[in-house]
Amino acid sequence: MLLKDVLILDSSMDAAQACDLIVSGTTVDSILPPRSADMPEEIDGKGSIAVLPGFVNAHGHAAMTLLRGLGEEAPLMEWLQKRIWPVEARLRPEHVFWGTQLALLEMLSGGITCFADMYFFMDQAAEAARLAGIRCALSRGLVGSDEKKLEEGVDLVRRYHDPSGLIRVQLGPHAIYTVPPEAFSEISKTAKDLGVGIQTHWLETEWESGFIRHELKKDPVSLLAEVGLFDVPFAVLAHGVWFPEDRIHELAGSRMSVVHNPKSNLKLGSGIAPVPRFLEEGVRVALGTDGAASNNRLDIWDEMRTCSLIHKGSHRDPCTVRASEVLRMATVEGARALGFTDVGLIRPGWQADLVLVDLDRPHYVGLTAENLCTALVYSGSSADVAGTLVAGKWLYRDGDHKTLETGTILRKARDCRKELLED
Ligand SMILES: [Zn+2]
Repeated sequence: MLLKDVLILDSSMDAAQACDLIVSGTTVDSILPPRSADMPEEIDGKGSIAVLPGFVNAHGHAAMTLLRGLGEEAPLMEWLQKRIWPVEARLRPEHVFWGTQLALLEMLSGGITCFADMYFFMDQAAEAARLAGIRCALSRGLVGSDEKKLEEGVDLVRRYHDPSGLIRVQLGPHAIYTVPPEAFSEISKTAKDLGVGIQTHWLETEWESGFIRHELKKDPVSLLAEVGLFDVPFAVLAHGVWFPEDRIHELAGSRMSVVHNPKSNLKLGSGIAPVPRFLEEGVRVALGTDGAASNNRLDIWDEMRTCSLIHKGSHRDPCTVRASEVLRMATVEGARALGFTDVGLIRPGWQADLVLVDLDRPHYVGLTAENLCTALVYSGSSADVAGTLVAGKWLYRDGDHKTLETGTILRKARDCRKELLED
């Protein structure tokens, strides 16, 4: 497949590059000078289509699309306990199936090609992802010290984990305030034995930091080692808002990534994660939306823009958290965080997970190969996405979903929402 005369950009490049991009099967085959490839084209970009690595939404709860708008403007613990958990207790498998597809409509149309998901009835999420053809890292959210739930998580690994395919499965201890340390250690040990990653929430709120120090009587950084998170193949720590700044260096060089969810943290009033310090210390940082009930969009463009702005404003430093760093967080760092090693850059032999961006728009007048990255982060939006490919296959193109039935999903999702909120 030839993408003719397009501008490619990934986070390893200083400037965009005009080229002919050839995709063969599931991977990028070659990058040739523009208008030099001798084969029929799939598209002719005429220099005004950008091709980027697909975005990775490295933390979220996809089927929470069905809970969007519940308990608006409440603090996290009250929001969880009074508005979210009671509705989640009524979730049935089909709700998760349609709620996840609803999320996928939104994510694919915004150029997300890989997503992390921690939720319940994850076989349904896996089926939804398989139908869509999207890449993902799934985990069954684990709370308490219930062996049966861990067994469900392990069972999901056995049934769906495919190290050479699109679907990876990880273990998902929800957080240290919902999973006791001994049970958390057991989960980490199981992940290590299975050779899979971990997704968890860590230091999202000041309350959580206090809970660890005063209820558990632990240090929140030493506890990472105590519960085995340094020993698993890789781990995602969602949020890290209250990570002590003088201890950040202890994460550098580890196989843990912090997933920054700036909009969810702002909306729930949790605070602003110390991202400039994470980056200075060489800690891996990826980007996520979190669930639609606390964001409320599943839009990585929005996260990129918010992330690039809040740290500049709060540090009064226009040079911090640069657009190129944000693009890296939204692509290759997200892929690494979830254990994908050939995803997130545009390179021959790497997965052809790509997003096409229409640059023939008013807000892109004046862009050059040199400023494309800043133009995308500061001026761009998910509305500019013209196409989304995962492993060389079109999943979204010119406003149409190729694998998902939009009308059916909207109808079913509305029915599910009604069922969840009734009685
Ligand atoms: Zn979350």
